[in-house]
Amino acid sequence: MVEMKKRVEELDRLYPQYLSDEAAKQAIMDVGRRLYKKGYVAANDGNISCMVEPGIVWATPTGVSKGYMTEEMMIKVDLTGRVLEGTYKPSTELMMHLRVYQENPAVKAVVHAHCPMATAFACAGIALDQPLLAEAVAMLGPVPIAPFALPGTPAVAESIAPYCRDYKAVMLANHGVLTWGPNMTEALYRLERVEYYASLLMLTGHFPQPARYIAPADVEILKTY
Ligand SMILES: [Zn+2]
Repeated sequence: MVEMKKRVEELDRLYPQYLSDEAAKQAIMDVGRRLYKKGYVAANDGNISCMVEPGIVWATPTGVSKGYMTEEMMIKVDLTGRVLEGTYKPSTELMMHLRVYQENPAVKAVVHAHCPMATAFACAGIALDQPLLAEAVAMLGPVPIAPFALPGTPAVAESIAPYCRDYKAVMLANHGVLTWGPNMTEALYRLERVEYYASLLMLTGHFPQPARYIAPADVEILKTY
């Protein structure tokens, strides 16, 4: 707890300001365009959020491409998921974002994407923990894999909770990648680092590995979505 408190104080000193509502919405739209251009989010995949005051977050809604978002699409929520502003519907993955803020008070931005290289590792059950790249070791640290959880269920938030304090990113089995940071730029950079790291691991022979498939019982549930 003392460690955590010291860390939060240090981060608050480095990044003392929360973004304004306006700046947070702009930052989310900028990051969305960047994720889309880089091929990290197919169709309407992925979601982005940014804290603007303790317990209050702007987030992307469900069902929109992250490459073509406008300001009116953004929703403002509290940490229980209650919508305070905006007319769009929250994403089912919002609770995963809110859990990161709850678990780690130093976090002010969260990014989730389905970037292909890292997601391939997440499907194969291979954590990104080889000391291959200096930047990955120094700036990112190991990236573990949270167990598979059915999208839209509370199990998704539960699955990532153990990693939010001691890691900078986590892969979601058979799903994608989640990163967070003391500001939006750092959360985005961590995602880019995860994907680059996974790409280099792939190019240096740590792949292919057989994928682990989703359990048949979960497949049946997914068919009803
Ligand atoms: Zn997802």
